[in-house]
Amino acid sequence: MLKNALENVLTPEESEELISAFDQIGDIIIVRIPDSLLDKKKIIGETLLKEVSIAKSVFYQASAVEGDFRTRSLEILAGENKTETEYKEFGCRFIVDVENAFFSPRLSTERERIANLTQDGEVVVNMFAGVGMFSIMVAKKKRCTVYSIDINPVASNLCKKNIASNKLLGNVISINGDASKIIKEKLENKSDRTLMLLPERSDEFLQSAIDTTKNGGIIHYYSHIHADKKSDAGKLSEKHYLEITPVKSEILGSKIVRPVGPRYYQTVVDVKISK
Ligand code: SAM
Repeated sequence: MLKNALENVLTPEESEELISAFDQIGDIIIVRIPDSLLDKKKIIGETLLKEVSIAKSVFYQASAVEGDFRTRSLEILAGENKTETEYKEFGCRFIVDVENAFFSPRLSTERERIANLTQDGEVVVNMFAGVGMFSIMVAKKKRCTVYSIDINPVASNLCKKNIASNKLLGNVISINGDASKIIKEKLENKSDRTLMLLPERSDEFLQSAIDTTKNGGIIHYYSHIHADKKSDAGKLSEKHYLEITPVKSEILGSKIVRPVGPRYYQTVVDVKISK
């Protein structure tokens, strides 16, 4: 459909390139535009707005995801200049702010995997929770308590709203602040399952993840890894984890979550720790 929509604006090769760099989140479209097509960005935005009936805004992603809050700069190309929207995933509803708090629709398979692994009665610590996507999906699926920590106040406030709209008050607790500090203050040895979805800085936060996790608990350790062969990425991240962890760890499994660059992957290693 999009290829047809862009037929009069771009060559088939150009539209192919554009479509792989494209996210639709609720009624917002975000498009990454290669430098070679930047002079056509307005017409691309206007065409997408016209052709995608549910879209109300089209933004150009003007920076990479960056900084402590893992956010990106957006530039309006067409439609309403608002960055909040409602996004639905597996029966949960979320208000997200695509510019001021981290959000990626590309993690939905991983969110479902973690929700399926979680057992009734568990305490989960989500150290880098954003607007609460993983926290809410897990608590919607299993009877558990989730501490949902984020340092970005915009993300923590949206998480509070999302907890209320998904009727999970008391099951998910949104806490604003630095995960290491919060864990030291009140969450040591509390967690059956710890999520550390800040892959660029996992090694730095591993000790805090261990501190919050009970003896016999599980850590989902996310990282970024270079691998010449895609099939090696999981094993390489297991090896890296085992080299840096200070505790006895049983590897339960590992996998690629998503590609993040040429021969560069976001991976997750699931480990059971003993301490
Ligand atoms: N898990 C969420 C999701 O999948 O939507 C968000 C993951 S995002 C990659 C990483 C998050 O970590 C950002 O929302 C950022 O604000 C937060 N963050 C960065 N440093 C932090 C810290 N020291 N303590 C707590 N949160 C932090």
